[in-house]
Amino acid sequence: MLTNADKFWNPLLETLPREKLQDLQVRKFRRIMAWAYENSKFHRKLYKEAGVQPADIKTMEDIAQVPKVEKSMMRNIQKKEPYPYGDMLCVPLERVTEFRQTSGTTGQPVYQPDTWQDWEWWAESWAYILYAQGYRSTDRVFIPFGYNIFVAFWAGHYGAEKLGCEVVPGGVLNTEARILKMQELRATATMATPTYVLGMADTARRKLGIDPAKDLNIQKITCAGEPGASIPATKRRMEEAWGAKVYDHIGATEIGAWSYECMEQPGGLHVNEGLFLVQIEDPETGEIIEEPGKPGKMVITAFDRIAQPCIRFDSKDIIMWHEEQCPCGRTFRLIKGGVVGRADDITKVKGVLLAPTAIEEVVRAIPELGDEYEVTVTKKGDTDDISLKVELLPEAENRKDEVMAILVDQLRVKTNLRYNISFHPYGSLPRYDVKAKRFKDLRKIH
Ligand SMILES: [Zn+2]
Repeated sequence: MLTNADKFWNPLLETLPREKLQDLQVRKFRRIMAWAYENSKFHRKLYKEAGVQPADIKTMEDIAQVPKVEKSMMRNIQKKEPYPYGDMLCVPLERVTEFRQTSGTTGQPVYQPDTWQDWEWWAESWAYILYAQGYRSTDRVFIPFGYNIFVAFWAGHYGAEKLGCEVVPGGVLNTEARILKMQELRATATMATPTYVLGMADTARRKLGIDPAKDLNIQKITCAGEPGASIPATKRRMEEAWGAKVYDHIGATEIGAWSYECMEQPGGLHVNEGLFLVQIEDPETGEIIEEPGKPGKMVITAFDRIAQPCIRFDSKDIIMWHEEQCPCGRTFRLIKGGVVGRADDITKVKGVLLAPTAIEEVVRAIPELGDEYEVTVTKKGDTDDISLKVELLPEAENRKDEVMAILVDQLRVKTNLRYNISFHPYGSLPRYDVKAKRFKDLRKIH
């Protein structure tokens, strides 16, 4: 039988009773707040203006009174002294060893400095993720990602090394070369965005005649960067294509690697509550939501990140607590279904609240359709118009009407909206290498 030492990366922390865990979180919050207060002009000003001091922090309720930091505030101070990070920086520039930046999909990128201590913390947080997903020192992990200014799987690489895995950096190789290398080396695990996991399988089959489920030795895949691995229909497609377990992880450049799905695949992700404090806030009232199943905005703190701290960061991610406890034995709380949306993405169409992930769930649950799809929202006169392009697989050409009926019905049930649906030949919609842009809201432009 597995002992706790075999099951958990940090058996003590991951199974700490809730009361002790919360006590630890309050103390760690006070410590990082004091660090920022003493070392960053930005934070000192923010807290002084709000009239809160680190010494005031004694309970979770006290924490909820600490001002939040928004991405726009980070953008405003960057490129100023100390260049290029500005006065959120808590260490002398010479202690910075890592530069990363956000991808800038929602505006000007944010620069993120880390010290070597921070970088070790990144690797440690990834070690929790990978250990919980069954990675061990016997694994050979192939990482098919362009090592560059984006953090993406950099820390996954170091986390896997920390566990003792053998890591193969698949940097500048193209997709075909990566697949052949995985095959040659009999790699047992890999990490990529859901878009690329599906894209690699497609390339393997179409261009190399390789069936990843049969001809490769990949047993587990860690996803990040997009919600797909928490969308049941997309997860199923990936698992079938690769004959492997697919696990989700959510992290961010300016936050860290804060959550992970464990081997139980409980329909949600554990928040790493030993390293982070996640609070869910009602977007309208600002109150903290404790009750499961009620979505709200994530406000997050990284306890141990020192160069450019992440304290009460308003992430704009929409999440909710899970009703269930995970059978794996971790006491770290689960968020249900991963990040269910972005405060920026969830949009009203024809007066109905729409989360783009709901469309993905419908499209990918229909086996006659390809992996790709494209949604465009426009305005025709005063009314919103929503169009959906999907690819019909060649073998389903003669069942077009039947597939259309299922699609219309499922979209109505899951999203309460009517779409202008068009079928396109398999392979004709754009393919994305890393993060996909399948949802376009053109109303905001005009
Ligand atoms: Zn679990």
